[in-house]
Amino acid sequence: MLLVKNLIKKYKNELAVNNISFQVDEGEIAILLGPNGAGKSTTIKSIVGLLKYDGYIEICGYKNKTIEAKKVFSYVPEVSSMFDLLTIYEHIEYIAAAYGIVDYKDQAEELLKRFDLSDKRNKLGKELSKGMMQKVSICCALITHPKVILFDEPLMGLDPKAIKELKKAIVELKEKGASILISTHIIDSVDDFWDKVLIMKNGNIVLAGTRKELMSRNETLEELFFDVTEEKE
Ligand code: ADP
Repeated sequence: MLLVKNLIKKYKNELAVNNISFQVDEGEIAILLGPNGAGKSTTIKSIVGLLKYDGYIEICGYKNKTIEAKKVFSYVPEVSSMFDLLTIYEHIEYIAAAYGIVDYKDQAEELLKRFDLSDKRNKLGKELSKGMMQKVSICCALITHPKVILFDEPLMGLDPKAIKELKKAIVELKEKGASILISTHIIDSVDDFWDKVLIMKNGNIVLAGTRKELMSRNETLEELFFDVTEEKE
């Protein structure tokens, strides 16, 4: 379970995240929507522990910056960075070792096949295209069997087959009880599989609810999004 309580992040004078709270339950896919500059990436980076912030963040009962929390969560950043001199396969091996996972080889093969990387396994980090880096980053996140996983704009730059496979993998994680948070500004890309939506604007959550709660309004996600994010005349 992911718990965010009273998260506040200021960059010098700018309030990027203004006291937001939410939780993502086990087996739940939550999507964090919002226009550019709404505060989505800042929220994600705070949860991951890359930024200093005020507030409280808990991952499966542990404070987010503790080693116990880090063991159970994974993060796929918007822009992936690779080790120049490690091959694709060595990236997966390295992450498996870092998380203390011994029995990873079969799953590594499966992931490589799934994301069309099998024949490219010996390519070095510095030789990869952006889309390939993104796929390696996804494989590294999935090899750890995370209980909480965060994706920042995960579908950007992926080819259609990888998008299909990633969506399938996300649903499989949900079925295993993981808490999944996906930040995006492209509503269509996630419309078919969310359980909870959090819409941000100007650092605030302006709408939050489960699919059941929000669909009783008889509006599409896109309509709800524009209702709460467009300036009223
Ligand atoms: P989103 O991911 O929703 O596009 P961000 O979290 O990146 O939004 O940004 C939220 C606000 O914080 C924006 O106004 C942005 O300009 C500002 N911001 C983001 N990163 C920085 C930074 N490193 N320094 C100063 N301001 C930042």
